[in-house]
Amino acid sequence: MLCSYLMRVPRNSSQYYRYTRRKWIKIFLVLLTVGIFIYPIRHSLIINFYLYLGKKQIGNGEYTRALNTFQKTVTINPRHALAHDALGMAYSYLGKREEAEKEYQNALQLGIKYQRWFDHIQSGDQLLARGKYLSAQVEYRHASRLQKNRASAYFGLGATYHALGDFPQAINQYRKSLTLDPNFATAQQLLEVAVQERKRGITHYLFDCNGEVLGSRIHRQSQYYYPYGSITAHPLGFSHPELGSMGLGKKISDLRMGNKIYLTLDCHLQVVASRALGWYRGAIIILNPQTGEILALVSQPGFNPNRLKRDWKKIQNHPHKPLLNRVLEKTYCPGSLAHIVTLAAALEEEKVLSEIFPFQCRGRLEEEDMQEGRIHGKIESLEEAFQEACSLAFARTGIHLGAHLISEYTERLGWGPEIWESEKEFPLPVISGSIPFLPKENTTLLARTAGGMEDQCQITPLTGALTAAVIANNGLLMKPYLIKEIKNITGQTFQAENPRVLKRVLKPETALRIKELMVATVDSGIARLAKTKKVTIAGRTATVKSGENEIAGWFIGFAPAEKPTIAFAIVVERGSGPYTAAAIARKIVETIL
Ligand SMILES: [Zn+2]
Repeated sequence: MLCSYLMRVPRNSSQYYRYTRRKWIKIFLVLLTVGIFIYPIRHSLIINFYLYLGKKQIGNGEYTRALNTFQKTVTINPRHALAHDALGMAYSYLGKREEAEKEYQNALQLGIKYQRWFDHIQSGDQLLARGKYLSAQVEYRHASRLQKNRASAYFGLGATYHALGDFPQAINQYRKSLTLDPNFATAQQLLEVAVQERKRGITHYLFDCNGEVLGSRIHRQSQYYYPYGSITAHPLGFSHPELGSMGLGKKISDLRMGNKIYLTLDCHLQVVASRALGWYRGAIIILNPQTGEILALVSQPGFNPNRLKRDWKKIQNHPHKPLLNRVLEKTYCPGSLAHIVTLAAALEEEKVLSEIFPFQCRGRLEEEDMQEGRIHGKIESLEEAFQEACSLAFARTGIHLGAHLISEYTERLGWGPEIWESEKEFPLPVISGSIPFLPKENTTLLARTAGGMEDQCQITPLTGALTAAVIANNGLLMKPYLIKEIKNITGQTFQAENPRVLKRVLKPETALRIKELMVATVDSGIARLAKTKKVTIAGRTATVKSGENEIAGWFIGFAPAEKPTIAFAIVVERGSGPYTAAAIARKIVETIL
């Protein structure tokens, strides 16, 4: 219609001139009208597009990008209520609570009403599930203003107050949500928990693998209490308002409020191991060889984390450093544990050793400057050498295998630094061991390393236990871990660690052969003191120098040998060599299996 009106043909020239002028005025007016209408529509189209895009970006976890997108909408129209609302949500996800609150104030002043597109209960739930209580609280508070009758907004608000330790507010909000929805089971349940916790004045936050309480927070003093005291001192570390934090206590400092942390530790085993070590100075670690879960970790001398303030001076001046975690932060010479490396290399590479065996042990090797405490006499094979722990036979075998193979297998078994460099996420401080660089021409160093008599070779008790675990687990090395899972205030798991293979170290056949030899060592060889009628134990002992004029004894092994459920390493400083360590191993295995 508009077109036909504009296209009317004039009858003569003067009419034509007037007509053209009028035509242009009309076209101008039409365009102006259209522009006036379209301009705001175009703007609101762009804003809606950006809101849609930002919402998608939030859904994908791209919070910074969402923030940028929403900021564009506010630039286009600073009085757009929903744009401010959306911007607030992006700030919440980014953990910027003050900015979020400010945007929500803006949105409320501009008259924001509830919109399903930006549901703040939903975002609150998401943040709550991740244990981000402060941000979740901002969301629920805003939601409770927009939807005054939604029980879940008040429940969420209550849960965040509960997690952050504000019990009166938590109870108040839970009750509000129950007034709106009397059948809200979770609210009822958490209300009871909050009432109880307020009455007792403590919250349990740390548990072992069976749910036994390992750590609690005392509300009034905002201090931590460890029910097992010095028994769990080293795996748990501590957190003290004046003395700072150490170990796991430091690692989980952001996770304690409102969450429940479950460890792989088994309290029963921890007590057994701690008692078995008694007053000896040393270290014990027990792990599950099939999963890598750390079940017990004992270091002695220890300290009582519940009496830190009182004992602090004594702890710091103690000559044997009670704060040192000997399992993870102290290295010892492996001694004849190194025979496992040499044996593994020879078996895995299928080396023929007829040049060496039968070997006549005379107690010393002149060329390599090595001396043994015993004269073993005639040794028929490397396997016999293993059972008798003849270091000289292993030294000769090492020379025969060559520096390259000995280096390769020490590295493979994780005795070098390599394994811990890629495992930065381990929850406790760990130091790596060291193995000497073996130049081809230095046969003395090679012989001493392969024979287990080189002081430059150093490993932690953890590494010793992992070596036992590799043999127990058919040659597979599992990643050791301590934190099993973390649950939020409502009991949802938001962080969990599962068994993970670090690498295949040995072929199953090689591991099996070494296992048989380790069983024989306990059954009739040098580690007889660990023998028990109840269970078959596979083991390896070692006597090593530790410091000036001091010896330490090792025992590493696993049980039951047929289907191992535990692998362990025990180091006793100043005990009677490996015999104390072997006896401790027997005591532990007899008690727990
Ligand atoms: Zn010998």
